[in-house]
Amino acid sequence: MGGTHQLHERCSKVDLHLHTTASDGALTPSELVLEAKAHGLECIAVTDHDSTNGLEEALEEGQKLGMQVIPGIEMSTDIPRAEVHILGYFIRYQDETFQGILKQLREGRRDRAEKMLAKLAEMGLPLPLDRVLEVAGQGSIGRPHIAEVMVEMGYVSSMVEAFTNYIGRNAPAYVERYKLTPTDAVGLVRQVGGLPVLAHPAEVLTLYQLLPRLIEAGLVGLEAYYFGYSPETVEGLLVLADEHGLIPTGGTDFHRVDPSGHGPRHPGETWVPWESVRRLKALATRLQGERVGGPEG
Ligand SMILES: [Zn+2]
Ligand SMILES: [Zn+2]
Repeated sequence: MGGTHQLHERCSKVDLHLHTTASDGALTPSELVLEAKAHGLECIAVTDHDSTNGLEEALEEGQKLGMQVIPGIEMSTDIPRAEVHILGYFIRYQDETFQGILKQLREGRRDRAEKMLAKLAEMGLPLPLDRVLEVAGQGSIGRPHIAEVMVEMGYVSSMVEAFTNYIGRNAPAYVERYKLTPTDAVGLVRQVGGLPVLAHPAEVLTLYQLLPRLIEAGLVGLEAYYFGYSPETVEGLLVLADEHGLIPTGGTDFHRVDPSGHGPRHPGETWVPWESVRRLKALATRLQGERVGGPEG
């Protein structure tokens, strides 16, 4: 217990979970690398949501400043009634098929909203897309925002009515959203030579049911050292990782300085051992070797 506590007070040189303006972070990729450098970090991974658009700039800035930057991603996936995030490290992000899937993930919600509005318009219930986007604000656009505007326009008397009669599953204006399962994302990361890691696992309520399936699909790591996790939670995840032969990784998930003071104040505010980087690198090298010169050619 005392030992674990000391670990958390040590200054981390590693942060493997960071966002930039390429998704919903506040810092540009260069600014993020500079900020990480200012806080004494030596190795970071840039892991934007469903986008690798910040990687080139981050890698360049890293070269300039002598900071190791691992090309990464954080993919959004769906399980019933929840979202699961899959991190990917050392991905061949230029892969065109991979980029096509990322684009669909990024645009999926907006596309779907537009398709539902088209269906509603055909039914004589036109809704302005601008107003739906406005109601959604910073958040990702979803059916509740459409329902809210339907109430505003006086088409229905409640959100429940909007779902029951129009946009609920099985209702006439319902459109399925482009979705990946966590297992799909793990497979995709492996296909582009990357190392899939389950992000913030303590948030996954069905962790114990999900984990064996993800491992079967090629999961190699568990984000055990996550900002805000208690020493007991970290310890439990380290045991779980060890039991399954997974590499424990970690990071702050820094997006911006949260005015409420709840989130991480800067990259590196979570202790992550060098051992995580060393093991990830060794495995990435081994898998690449197998791909290039292995028995399957
Ligand atoms: Zn996440
Ligand atoms: Zn994140």
